[in-house]
Amino acid sequence: MRIAIIGAGIAGLAAARELQAADMPVTVYDKARGPGGRFGSKRTPHGPMDLGAQYFTARDPAFREAVSEWQSAGVIAPWSVTPMVLPERQPARPEIRLVAVPRMSALARHMAEGLYLETGVQISEITRELGGWVLRERHGKTLGEFDAVIVTAPAPQAQSLLAEPTPMLATAAGTARMQPCWSVGLVLETPLDIDVDAGFPSSGPLRWIARAGSRPQRPHSPEIWTLHATPAWSEANIEWSPEAAGEFLAEAFSELIRRSPSVKERIAHRWRFAQARNPLGDSAGFIESDDILCAGDWVADGRVEGAWHSGRAAARQLVTRAGKHSTVF
Ligand SMILES: Cc1cc2nc3c(=O)[nH]c(=O)nc-3n(C[C@H](O)[C@H](O)[C@H](O)COP(=O)(O)OP(=O)(O)OC[C@H]3O[C@@H](n4cnc5c(N)ncnc54)[C@H](O)[C@@H]3O)c2cc1C
Repeated sequence: MRIAIIGAGIAGLAAARELQAADMPVTVYDKARGPGGRFGSKRTPHGPMDLGAQYFTARDPAFREAVSEWQSAGVIAPWSVTPMVLPERQPARPEIRLVAVPRMSALARHMAEGLYLETGVQISEITRELGGWVLRERHGKTLGEFDAVIVTAPAPQAQSLLAEPTPMLATAAGTARMQPCWSVGLVLETPLDIDVDAGFPSSGPLRWIARAGSRPQRPHSPEIWTLHATPAWSEANIEWSPEAAGEFLAEAFSELIRRSPSVKERIAHRWRFAQARNPLGDSAGFIESDDILCAGDWVADGRVEGAWHSGRAAARQLVTRAGKHSTVF
């Protein structure tokens, strides 16, 4: 069985590893320069910045097993931080918050080791032909024929890819709403003298702030803060320029912490599809029709853990169908 996976985020990589462990040939395509998707790092002149997922939790035993393998491999570590609800300064729920080290993209690179991964390839068409499902990239080049395809793009992107080959899955993807997020890396001239390393603002345009250097294995200099806007603010201002969004959110940060940090640079990133607002919550973890399977955080639950489960479940379905056994993790 020849399998293609669209997307090398956590869901796509979890699926690929499961299939590879069952000796099933799989090719992973991602339109970005490297794997990781929303669990990645942005290259900047100040080094890699964590502007997407900030940390993840591991609540399910199967996922904890994967986490412990990653911890042994040295690609993730716990972030000993107690985020504060601000400005009330109430500690947020205590839980083990995990991050990849020394940067978020390290986990995806580890998961991608040994896989057949083609980056910089945007799939624009999936069509049924005599030999199976044919994938074409955005310049029209045919990439090959596959017996099954796992689509792990965020819901709106999956919806447009699936409209032609499987309208039923496209309709399902259309019901999963994804929230946008403006994310800003604030590079400071001098460190901030506040005793908070991370926080959830309880009002205003920000919903998350974090001092990058408080995470394990991150440089302390220059001091960088990550700011995330609320879904409501991001949605209302999604078409702002990165400069305008960065300036506005940096000002909101100053007001929140009641300081006027000397800012060297602001690097803003617009996530149009950051997190699933109403994941389908499918109990199988994936949806399928006619040898096309959809996985990702929007199918299962809107977090890293959900994405991993979803990708793995989709792959297991194909492994079972092929009558094979996988032994990964
Ligand atoms: C700002 C932000 C903060 C977050 N905070 C947290 C958090 O604190 N904790 C947490 O658990 N989760 C958090 N998340 C959510 C978490 O990042 C996601 O749930 C998870 O990474 C989703 O993984 P995925 O594989 O389902 O999707 P993605 O990571 O989106 O992977 C999909 C991949 O598909 C690729 N792709 C899309 N279309 C195509 C195409 N046509 N052809 C080829 N490739 C394509 C994309 O490039 C991408 O790499 C956050 C996300 C964001 C953006």
